[in-house]
Amino acid sequence: MSGIRAGRVALCALMVHAAGCRLAPEAPPPGLPSELRTERFHLRFEEGSLDAGARAALLAELERSLAAVEADFSDVTRPGSFGTGRAPALDGARLEPIQVRVVLSAGRCFTDARGIELVASHRERHHATHELIHYLFGPSWHPVDEGLACYLTERLCGPIKQAGADLRTVVALDLERFRSLIPERLDRQMSRVDYDAAASFVKYLIETFGWARFFDLYRGVKRNYHGAFGRSEQELFSAWRERLGRLDLRRTRAYYRFRARSTIGLQEAGAPPSQRRAEGEAVD
Ligand SMILES: [Zn+2]
Repeated sequence: MSGIRAGRVALCALMVHAAGCRLAPEAPPPGLPSELRTERFHLRFEEGSLDAGARAALLAELERSLAAVEADFSDVTRPGSFGTGRAPALDGARLEPIQVRVVLSAGRCFTDARGIELVASHRERHHATHELIHYLFGPSWHPVDEGLACYLTERLCGPIKQAGADLRTVVALDLERFRSLIPERLDRQMSRVDYDAAASFVKYLIETFGWARFFDLYRGVKRNYHGAFGRSEQELFSAWRERLGRLDLRRTRAYYRFRARSTIGLQEAGAPPSQRRAEGEAVD
């Protein structure tokens, strides 16, 4: 993965693809201003992209997520450092507002040094927070970059449809849909299962070794797990899988609900075709 625009597009491809299949939830709003400025954000809206209520909800989510990251991580963030070599500390008093473009495209959300581009129909999936985390922490490599973005988004916004990354990964393992978190494979393409597994693995690393050592890994040489944690990649993968087993998620109602969604989709539950397609692919 890289911090450049093209790289980010590729990384977030699946998330965008899934949401792009959905119908835009908000009706085109005539006559709204094309921009919204606050001290910390400068939002620009493609005509017809979000109505007033959705704009307010988007801004509230961005402000809330930014404040949470600033409160806990101001010493390790590198806002907008994609491909520029620029690595300023996160300091609200000195930073320019973060640029956010909201578009109607059925394409992909992405982040680069210029800011965030959010596909309007992805707003309710908290992709704005996901991209904000990419923007604030700067680039790294797979799976730790997407794992951090997914894990923190889940912490800040809650699990989508009551199925967290650990549970989703256990379901994927049981359905034999999980393959590996080897960077070279993920560099080619990441599936929804890969995003979930990356988030679960990053969660394990952080909860086991702490944030400081995780960021040693995040800022360090690709796959240098031994340098950050004193353990090999395979040892860590095995320990993560063992931890997932100990969580005993298979006895929960949420497990069976998500497993059913993953296998049969919502067709039998009468969901509309656009939603059914996304759920059938186990996309959040
Ligand atoms: Zn991403």
